[in-house]
Amino acid sequence: MSEPRRVILLGSTGSIGESTLDVIRHMGGQAEAGFQVVGLAAGTRYEQLVKQAEEFKVDSIALADASRVEGDAFKGELLTGPGSARGLVESVAREGDLVVAAIVGSAGIDAVMAAIDAGCDVALANKETLVAAGSLVMPRASERGIRLLPVDSEHSAIFQCLQGCNGEKEISRLVITASGGPFRGMDRETIRKATPKEALAHPTWSMGPKITIDSASMMNKALEVIEAHWLFDLPAEKIDVIVHPQSIIHGFVEYVDGSVLAQMGPPDMKTPIQYAMTWPHRKDGCSHKMNWSELSSLAFEQLDHEAFPPVMQALEVIRRGGTAGAIFNAANEVAVEAFLANSIPFGGIHDLVTEAIESIPIRPVTALSDIVKADEDARAFVRERIGCMSSLNAESTAVSSENG
Ligand code: NAD
Ligand code: MG
Repeated sequence: MSEPRRVILLGSTGSIGESTLDVIRHMGGQAEAGFQVVGLAAGTRYEQLVKQAEEFKVDSIALADASRVEGDAFKGELLTGPGSARGLVESVAREGDLVVAAIVGSAGIDAVMAAIDAGCDVALANKETLVAAGSLVMPRASERGIRLLPVDSEHSAIFQCLQGCNGEKEISRLVITASGGPFRGMDRETIRKATPKEALAHPTWSMGPKITIDSASMMNKALEVIEAHWLFDLPAEKIDVIVHPQSIIHGFVEYVDGSVLAQMGPPDMKTPIQYAMTWPHRKDGCSHKMNWSELSSLAFEQLDHEAFPPVMQALEVIRRGGTAGAIFNAANEVAVEAFLANSIPFGGIHDLVTEAIESIPIRPVTALSDIVKADEDARAFVRERIGCMSSLNAESTAVSSENG
Protein backbone atom coordinates (compact mmCIF):
# COMPACT_ATOMS: atom_id res chain seq x y z
CA MET A 1 0.00 0.00 0.00
CA SER A 2 1.32 3.48 -0.86
CA GLU A 3 2.14 6.03 1.84
CA PRO A 4 -0.87 8.00 3.12
CA ARG A 5 -1.12 11.54 1.80
CA ARG A 6 -0.11 14.09 4.43
CA VAL A 7 -2.80 16.73 5.07
CA ILE A 8 -2.56 20.08 6.83
CA LEU A 9 -6.01 21.42 7.69
CA LEU A 10 -6.28 25.17 8.21
CA GLY A 11 -9.51 26.38 9.83
CA SER A 12 -10.17 22.93 11.31
CA THR A 13 -12.74 24.04 13.89
CA GLY A 14 -15.06 25.72 11.37
CA SER A 15 -17.84 24.40 9.20
CA ILE A 16 -15.57 23.31 6.30
CA GLY A 17 -12.85 22.15 8.72
CA GLU A 18 -15.21 19.83 10.63
CA SER A 19 -16.72 18.57 7.36
CA THR A 20 -13.22 17.75 6.10
CA LEU A 21 -12.58 15.62 9.20
CA ASP A 22 -15.99 13.98 8.70
CA VAL A 23 -15.00 13.07 5.15
CA ILE A 24 -11.84 11.35 6.46
CA ARG A 25 -13.86 9.57 9.17
CA HIS A 26 -16.36 8.43 6.56
CA MET A 27 -13.64 7.09 4.30
CA GLY A 28 -12.73 4.74 7.16
CA GLY A 29 -10.40 6.89 9.25
CA GLN A 30 -6.92 7.98 8.29
CA ALA A 31 -5.26 4.67 7.41
CA GLU A 32 -8.17 3.41 5.34
CA ALA A 33 -8.78 6.78 3.65
CA GLY A 34 -5.13 7.11 2.68
CA PHE A 35 -4.68 10.43 4.49
CA GLN A 36 -2.64 11.38 7.53
CA VAL A 37 -3.44 14.72 9.13
CA VAL A 38 -0.13 16.26 10.23
CA GLY A 39 -1.20 19.79 11.17
CA LEU A 40 -4.33 21.59 12.35
CA ALA A 41 -4.84 25.37 12.62
CA ALA A 42 -7.74 27.35 14.06
CA GLY A 43 -8.65 30.79 15.30
CA THR A 44 -10.03 30.64 18.82
CA ARG A 45 -11.45 27.26 19.86
CA TYR A 46 -8.54 25.66 21.67
CA GLU A 47 -10.44 22.84 23.34
CA GLN A 48 -12.00 21.68 20.06
CA LEU A 49 -8.61 21.92 18.32
CA VAL A 50 -6.89 19.75 20.94
CA LYS A 51 -9.71 17.20 20.75
CA GLN A 52 -9.27 16.98 17.00
CA ALA A 53 -5.49 16.61 17.43
CA GLU A 54 -6.00 13.74 19.88
CA GLU A 55 -8.48 11.92 17.64
CA PHE A 56 -6.34 12.28 14.49
CA LYS A 57 -2.99 11.88 16.32
CA VAL A 58 -1.68 15.23 15.15
CA ASP A 59 1.58 16.51 16.68
CA SER A 60 1.53 20.11 15.42
CA ILE A 61 -1.27 22.61 15.95
CA ALA A 62 -1.72 26.38 15.70
CA LEU A 63 -4.15 28.80 17.33
CA ALA A 64 -4.40 32.44 16.19
CA ASP A 65 -5.71 33.76 19.51
CA ALA A 66 -2.98 32.92 22.06
CA SER A 67 -5.15 34.10 24.97
CA ARG A 68 -7.51 31.12 24.41
CA VAL A 69 -4.87 28.48 25.18
CA GLU A 70 -5.76 26.67 28.41
CA GLY A 71 -3.66 24.25 30.45
CA ASP A 72 -0.65 22.28 29.19
CA ALA A 73 -2.35 18.99 28.27
CA PHE A 74 -1.22 19.21 24.62
CA LYS A 75 2.27 17.72 24.42
CA GLY A 76 3.08 18.39 20.75
CA GLU A 77 4.15 21.54 18.90
CA LEU A 78 1.79 24.45 19.61
CA LEU A 79 2.14 27.67 17.64
CA THR A 80 0.12 30.71 18.60
CA GLY A 81 -0.58 34.21 17.34
CA PRO A 82 -2.04 35.79 14.21
CA GLY A 83 0.65 34.31 11.91
CA SER A 84 0.53 30.84 13.45
CA ALA A 85 -1.29 29.12 10.55
CA ARG A 86 1.49 30.24 8.21
CA GLY A 87 4.05 29.17 10.84
CA LEU A 88 2.44 25.73 11.01
CA VAL A 89 2.67 25.30 7.23
CA GLU A 90 6.31 26.43 7.27
CA SER A 91 7.06 24.03 10.11
CA VAL A 92 5.38 20.82 8.91
CA ALA A 93 4.69 21.07 5.16
CA ARG A 94 6.63 18.89 2.74
CA GLU A 95 6.54 18.92 -1.03
CA GLY A 96 3.49 17.00 -2.28
CA ASP A 97 1.39 17.42 0.88
CA LEU A 98 -2.21 18.59 0.64
CA VAL A 99 -3.18 21.79 2.46
CA VAL A 100 -6.92 22.23 3.00
CA ALA A 101 -7.39 26.00 3.21
CA ALA A 102 -10.58 26.61 5.21
CA ILE A 103 -9.73 29.70 7.24
CA VAL A 104 -12.36 32.40 6.78
CA GLY A 105 -11.35 35.75 5.31
CA SER A 106 -8.13 37.36 4.14
CA ALA A 107 -6.47 36.03 7.33
CA GLY A 108 -5.94 32.87 5.27
CA ILE A 109 -3.83 34.42 2.50
CA ASP A 110 -0.31 34.09 3.85
CA ALA A 111 -0.79 30.44 4.89
CA VAL A 112 -1.95 29.63 1.35
CA MET A 113 1.10 31.42 -0.07
CA ALA A 114 3.34 29.45 2.33
CA ALA A 115 1.67 26.20 1.20
CA ILE A 116 2.38 27.03 -2.45
CA ASP A 117 5.98 27.95 -1.63
CA ALA A 118 6.40 24.60 0.14
CA GLY A 119 5.19 22.76 -3.00
CA CYS A 120 1.87 21.57 -1.50
CA ASP A 121 -1.35 21.17 -3.46
CA VAL A 122 -4.12 23.32 -2.02
CA ALA A 123 -7.77 22.30 -1.60
CA LEU A 124 -9.11 25.83 -1.51
CA ALA A 125 -12.27 26.77 0.38
CA ASN A 126 -10.93 30.18 1.44
CA LYS A 127 -12.28 32.17 -1.53
CA GLU A 128 -11.22 35.50 0.02
CA THR A 129 -7.60 34.52 -0.74
CA LEU A 130 -8.25 34.55 -4.48
CA VAL A 131 -10.51 37.60 -4.37
CA ALA A 132 -7.82 39.65 -2.64
CA ALA A 133 -4.62 38.05 -3.91
CA GLY A 134 -5.50 36.03 -7.04
CA SER A 135 -3.00 38.01 -9.12
CA LEU A 136 -0.17 36.72 -6.90
CA VAL A 137 -1.49 33.29 -5.95
CA MET A 138 -2.28 31.98 -9.44
CA PRO A 139 1.09 32.72 -11.10
CA ARG A 140 2.96 31.49 -7.99
CA ALA A 141 0.99 28.21 -8.05
CA SER A 142 1.67 27.71 -11.72
CA GLU A 143 5.40 28.49 -11.34
CA ARG A 144 5.63 25.87 -8.56
CA GLY A 145 3.54 23.39 -10.58
CA ILE A 146 1.06 22.92 -7.75
CA ARG A 147 -2.67 22.38 -8.04
CA LEU A 148 -5.39 24.58 -6.58
CA LEU A 149 -8.36 22.26 -6.20
CA PRO A 150 -11.60 24.16 -5.67
CA VAL A 151 -13.70 23.26 -2.63
CA ASP A 152 -16.37 25.92 -3.19
CA SER A 153 -19.26 23.86 -4.61
CA GLU A 154 -19.84 26.03 -7.69
CA HIS A 155 -16.15 26.01 -8.59
CA SER A 156 -15.87 22.29 -7.95
CA ALA A 157 -18.82 21.88 -10.36
CA ILE A 158 -17.18 24.01 -13.03
CA PHE A 159 -13.82 22.30 -12.49
CA GLN A 160 -15.55 18.95 -13.11
CA CYS A 161 -17.39 20.26 -16.21
CA LEU A 162 -14.12 21.63 -17.63
CA GLN A 163 -12.34 18.30 -17.63
CA GLY A 164 -11.58 17.50 -21.26
CA CYS A 165 -11.84 21.15 -22.32
CA ASN A 166 -9.06 22.32 -24.66
CA GLY A 167 -8.81 25.95 -23.61
CA GLU A 168 -10.70 29.21 -23.45
CA LYS A 169 -11.57 29.27 -27.16
CA GLU A 170 -13.99 26.37 -26.56
CA ILE A 171 -15.84 28.08 -23.68
CA SER A 172 -18.75 30.49 -24.24
CA ARG A 173 -19.26 31.16 -20.55
CA LEU A 174 -19.35 29.76 -17.03
CA VAL A 175 -22.55 29.97 -15.03
CA ILE A 176 -22.45 29.92 -11.23
CA THR A 177 -25.72 29.07 -9.51
CA ALA A 178 -27.06 30.95 -6.47
CA SER A 179 -29.78 29.66 -4.18
CA GLY A 180 -31.05 33.25 -3.83
CA GLY A 181 -30.58 33.12 -0.07
CA PRO A 182 -33.22 34.00 2.55
CA PHE A 183 -34.26 37.25 0.83
CA ARG A 184 -34.96 35.94 -2.67
CA GLY A 185 -37.96 37.72 -4.20
CA MET A 186 -37.90 40.60 -1.69
CA ASP A 187 -37.40 44.23 -2.68
CA ARG A 188 -34.27 46.20 -1.92
CA GLU A 189 -35.72 48.42 0.83
CA THR A 190 -37.12 45.46 2.79
CA ILE A 191 -33.84 43.58 2.47
CA ARG A 192 -31.84 46.59 3.70
CA LYS A 193 -33.68 46.40 7.06
CA ALA A 194 -33.06 42.68 7.68
CA THR A 195 -31.85 41.58 11.12
CA PRO A 196 -28.88 39.22 11.77
CA LYS A 197 -31.34 36.46 12.72
CA GLU A 198 -33.18 36.79 9.40
CA ALA A 199 -29.95 36.99 7.41
CA LEU A 200 -28.50 33.91 9.17
CA ALA A 201 -31.48 31.73 8.17
CA HIS A 202 -30.15 30.23 4.91
CA PRO A 203 -32.72 28.09 3.06
CA THR A 204 -30.44 25.35 1.65
CA TRP A 205 -26.86 25.48 3.00
CA SER A 206 -25.50 25.19 6.56
CA MET A 207 -22.26 27.24 6.81
CA GLY A 208 -20.16 29.50 9.03
CA PRO A 209 -21.65 32.90 9.99
CA LYS A 210 -19.63 35.15 7.65
CA ILE A 211 -20.41 33.23 4.46
CA THR A 212 -24.06 32.89 5.53
CA ILE A 213 -24.36 36.70 5.71
CA ASP A 214 -22.49 36.96 2.39
CA SER A 215 -25.04 34.57 0.91
CA ALA A 216 -27.94 36.71 2.11
CA SER A 217 -26.44 39.89 0.61
CA MET A 218 -25.30 38.06 -2.58
CA MET A 219 -21.77 39.18 -1.73
CA ASN A 220 -20.90 35.47 -1.63
CA LYS A 221 -21.82 35.20 -5.33
CA ALA A 222 -19.83 38.35 -6.02
CA LEU A 223 -16.76 36.83 -4.33
CA GLU A 224 -17.37 33.59 -6.25
CA VAL A 225 -17.44 35.41 -9.58
CA ILE A 226 -14.01 36.88 -8.80
CA GLU A 227 -12.82 33.49 -7.52
CA ALA A 228 -13.93 31.88 -10.83
CA HIS A 229 -12.14 34.59 -12.82
CA TRP A 230 -8.84 33.67 -11.14
CA LEU A 231 -9.28 29.90 -10.94
CA PHE A 232 -10.35 29.44 -14.55
CA ASP A 233 -8.51 32.40 -16.08
CA LEU A 234 -11.58 33.86 -17.79
CA PRO A 235 -12.66 37.49 -18.25
CA ALA A 236 -15.65 39.01 -16.45
CA GLU A 237 -17.71 38.83 -19.69
CA LYS A 238 -17.56 35.03 -19.62
CA ILE A 239 -18.83 34.58 -16.05
CA ASP A 240 -22.50 34.69 -15.19
CA VAL A 241 -24.78 33.98 -12.23
CA ILE A 242 -28.23 32.40 -12.28
CA VAL A 243 -30.60 31.83 -9.36
CA HIS A 244 -31.47 28.16 -8.81
CA PRO A 245 -33.37 27.89 -5.51
CA GLN A 246 -32.98 24.11 -4.99
CA SER A 247 -29.14 24.22 -5.00
CA ILE A 248 -28.93 20.91 -6.92
CA ILE A 249 -27.05 22.16 -9.97
CA HIS A 250 -23.91 23.91 -8.72
CA GLY A 251 -22.45 25.24 -11.94
CA PHE A 252 -22.54 25.03 -15.74
CA VAL A 253 -20.04 25.36 -18.53
CA GLU A 254 -21.51 26.49 -21.84
CA TYR A 255 -19.30 25.44 -24.75
CA VAL A 256 -19.08 27.22 -28.11
CA ASP A 257 -20.76 24.33 -29.93
CA GLY A 258 -23.93 24.84 -27.85
CA SER A 259 -23.38 21.96 -25.44
CA VAL A 260 -23.89 22.81 -21.78
CA LEU A 261 -22.35 20.64 -19.06
CA ALA A 262 -23.72 20.90 -15.52
CA GLN A 263 -22.75 19.20 -12.27
CA MET A 264 -25.42 18.20 -9.76
CA GLY A 265 -25.54 16.90 -6.23
CA PRO A 266 -27.36 17.49 -2.94
CA PRO A 267 -26.33 20.74 -1.22
CA ASP A 268 -23.68 19.28 1.08
CA MET A 269 -20.10 20.58 1.15
CA LYS A 270 -18.73 17.13 1.95
CA THR A 271 -19.06 16.16 -1.72
CA PRO A 272 -16.82 18.92 -3.14
CA ILE A 273 -14.43 18.65 -0.14
CA GLN A 274 -14.00 14.93 -0.78
CA TYR A 275 -13.54 15.44 -4.52
CA ALA A 276 -10.80 18.03 -3.91
CA MET A 277 -9.08 15.52 -1.62
CA THR A 278 -9.37 12.42 -3.80
CA TRP A 279 -9.03 14.05 -7.25
CA PRO A 280 -8.53 12.67 -9.87
CA HIS A 281 -10.23 9.65 -8.27
CA ARG A 282 -13.68 9.22 -6.74
CA LYS A 283 -14.58 7.31 -3.60
CA ASP A 284 -17.86 6.41 -1.91
CA GLY A 285 -19.26 9.72 -0.62
CA CYS A 286 -20.73 10.44 2.79
CA SER A 287 -23.45 12.95 1.88
CA HIS A 288 -26.91 11.59 1.11
CA LYS A 289 -27.48 10.70 -2.52
CA MET A 290 -29.96 12.39 -4.87
CA ASN A 291 -33.51 11.15 -4.42
CA TRP A 292 -34.99 11.48 -7.89
CA SER A 293 -38.48 10.48 -6.77
CA GLU A 294 -38.63 13.58 -4.54
CA LEU A 295 -37.38 15.97 -7.22
CA SER A 296 -39.91 16.82 -9.92
CA SER A 297 -38.39 19.98 -11.37
CA LEU A 298 -35.38 22.27 -11.34
CA ALA A 299 -36.15 26.00 -11.30
CA PHE A 300 -34.09 28.94 -12.58
CA GLU A 301 -34.53 32.71 -12.29
CA GLN A 302 -32.58 35.74 -13.32
CA LEU A 303 -30.75 37.46 -10.47
CA ASP A 304 -32.44 40.71 -9.38
CA HIS A 305 -29.46 43.08 -9.60
CA GLU A 306 -31.47 45.99 -8.18
CA ALA A 307 -32.16 44.07 -4.94
CA PHE A 308 -28.72 42.40 -4.91
CA PRO A 309 -26.09 44.75 -6.38
CA PRO A 310 -22.78 43.02 -5.37
CA VAL A 311 -22.46 40.74 -8.43
CA MET A 312 -22.37 43.74 -10.80
CA GLN A 313 -19.78 45.34 -8.51
CA ALA A 314 -17.68 42.16 -8.70
CA LEU A 315 -17.54 42.33 -12.50
CA GLU A 316 -16.28 45.90 -12.17
CA VAL A 317 -13.73 44.82 -9.53
CA ILE A 318 -12.36 42.24 -12.02
CA ARG A 319 -12.12 44.89 -14.75
CA ARG A 320 -10.34 47.35 -12.46
CA GLY A 321 -7.82 44.77 -11.22
CA GLY A 322 -4.90 45.73 -8.95
CA THR A 323 -5.87 46.08 -5.30
CA ALA A 324 -9.62 46.42 -6.08
CA GLY A 325 -10.33 42.83 -4.97
CA ALA A 326 -8.46 43.27 -1.68
CA ILE A 327 -10.40 46.46 -0.89
CA PHE A 328 -13.75 44.97 -1.89
CA ASN A 329 -13.14 41.90 0.27
CA ALA A 330 -11.71 43.60 3.38
CA ALA A 331 -14.43 46.27 3.44
CA ASN A 332 -17.03 43.51 3.34
CA GLU A 333 -15.35 41.52 6.13
CA VAL A 334 -15.41 44.47 8.52
CA ALA A 335 -18.96 45.45 7.54
CA VAL A 336 -20.25 41.89 8.06
CA GLU A 337 -18.66 41.75 11.53
CA ALA A 338 -20.31 45.08 12.38
CA PHE A 339 -23.68 43.86 11.12
CA LEU A 340 -23.43 40.67 13.18
CA ALA A 341 -22.58 42.83 16.21
CA ASN A 342 -25.73 44.89 15.53
CA SER A 343 -23.63 48.02 14.89
CA ILE A 344 -24.92 48.67 11.36
CA PRO A 345 -28.07 47.75 9.42
CA PHE A 346 -27.95 45.03 6.73
CA GLY A 347 -28.07 47.66 3.97
CA GLY A 348 -25.03 49.30 5.56
CA ILE A 349 -22.83 46.41 4.38
CA HIS A 350 -23.36 47.31 0.73
CA ASP A 351 -23.08 51.05 1.41
CA LEU A 352 -19.74 50.66 3.20
CA VAL A 353 -18.28 48.34 0.55
CA THR A 354 -19.36 50.79 -2.16
CA GLU A 355 -17.86 53.76 -0.32
CA ALA A 356 -14.59 51.88 0.23
CA ILE A 357 -14.23 50.81 -3.39
CA GLU A 358 -15.04 54.32 -4.61
CA SER A 359 -12.87 56.21 -2.11
CA ILE A 360 -9.69 54.16 -1.64
CA PRO A 361 -7.20 54.48 -4.51
CA ILE A 362 -6.77 51.21 -6.43
CA ARG A 363 -3.10 50.44 -7.02
CA PRO A 364 -1.17 47.84 -9.01
CA VAL A 365 -0.09 44.65 -7.21
CA THR A 366 3.52 43.54 -7.40
CA ALA A 367 3.98 41.97 -3.96
CA LEU A 368 1.96 40.62 -1.04
CA SER A 369 2.69 43.87 0.83
CA ASP A 370 0.49 45.73 -1.72
CA ILE A 371 -2.42 43.45 -0.83
CA VAL A 372 -1.78 43.73 2.91
CA LYS A 373 -1.70 47.53 2.67
CA ALA A 374 -4.94 47.70 0.65
CA ASP A 375 -6.60 45.27 3.09
CA GLU A 376 -5.51 47.39 6.09
CA ASP A 377 -6.57 50.65 4.42
CA ALA A 378 -10.02 49.27 3.63
CA ARG A 379 -10.45 47.96 7.18
CA ALA A 380 -9.41 51.30 8.69
CA PHE A 381 -11.68 53.21 6.29
CA VAL A 382 -14.75 51.10 7.08
CA ARG A 383 -14.08 51.12 10.84
CA GLU A 384 -13.88 54.89 10.79
CA ARG A 385 -17.13 55.17 8.81
CA ILE A 386 -18.84 52.78 11.27
CA GLY A 387 -17.54 54.93 14.14
CA CYS A 388 -19.10 58.01 12.51
CA MET A 389 -22.38 56.15 11.96
CA SER A 390 -22.53 54.99 15.61
CA SER A 391 -21.83 58.47 16.99
CA LEU A 392 -24.51 59.92 14.68
CA ASN A 393 -26.94 57.24 15.90
CA ALA A 394 -26.01 57.98 19.53
CA GLU A 395 -26.62 61.71 18.92
CA SER A 396 -29.99 61.16 17.27
CA THR A 397 -31.02 58.81 20.10
CA ALA A 398 -29.93 61.44 22.64
CA VAL A 399 -31.85 64.18 20.76
CA SER A 400 -34.99 62.06 20.48
CA SER A 401 -34.88 61.15 24.18
CA GLU A 402 -34.38 64.83 25.10
CA ASN A 403 -37.37 65.68 22.91
CA GLY A 404 -39.53 62.92 24.22
P1 NAD B 1 -16.23 29.14 9.85
O1 NAD B 1 -16.39 30.48 10.43
O2 NAD B 1 -17.19 28.06 10.21
O3 NAD B 1 -14.74 28.59 10.14
C1 NAD B 1 -13.61 29.37 9.95
C2 NAD B 1 -12.39 28.68 10.51
O4 NAD B 1 -11.27 29.57 10.36
C3 NAD B 1 -12.49 28.35 12.00
O5 NAD B 1 -11.80 27.16 12.25
C4 NAD B 1 -11.72 29.51 12.64
O6 NAD B 1 -11.21 29.19 13.89
C5 NAD B 1 -10.62 29.68 11.62
N1 NAD B 1 -9.94 30.96 11.66
C6 NAD B 1 -10.47 32.20 11.62
N2 NAD B 1 -9.51 33.14 11.67
C7 NAD B 1 -8.33 32.47 11.74
C8 NAD B 1 -6.97 32.85 11.79
N3 NAD B 1 -6.61 34.14 11.81
N4 NAD B 1 -6.01 31.89 11.85
C9 NAD B 1 -6.35 30.57 11.85
N5 NAD B 1 -7.63 30.15 11.78
C10 NAD B 1 -8.59 31.08 11.72
O7 NAD B 1 -16.20 29.35 8.26
P2 NAD B 1 -16.58 28.29 7.11
O8 NAD B 1 -18.01 28.41 6.78
O9 NAD B 1 -16.00 26.96 7.43
O10 NAD B 1 -15.80 28.94 5.86
C11 NAD B 1 -14.41 28.82 5.73
C12 NAD B 1 -14.01 29.28 4.33
O11 NAD B 1 -14.60 28.41 3.37
C13 NAD B 1 -14.53 30.69 3.98
O12 NAD B 1 -13.59 31.31 3.16
C14 NAD B 1 -15.80 30.42 3.19
O13 NAD B 1 -16.10 31.44 2.27
C15 NAD B 1 -15.41 29.14 2.47
N6 NAD B 1 -16.56 28.32 2.08
C16 NAD B 1 -17.38 27.82 3.04
C17 NAD B 1 -18.48 27.06 2.70
C18 NAD B 1 -19.39 26.45 3.75
O14 NAD B 1 -20.30 25.74 3.39
N7 NAD B 1 -19.19 26.70 5.01
C19 NAD B 1 -18.76 26.83 1.34
C20 NAD B 1 -17.89 27.33 0.39
C21 NAD B 1 -16.79 28.08 0.76
MG1 MG C 1 -20.17 28.47 -3.04
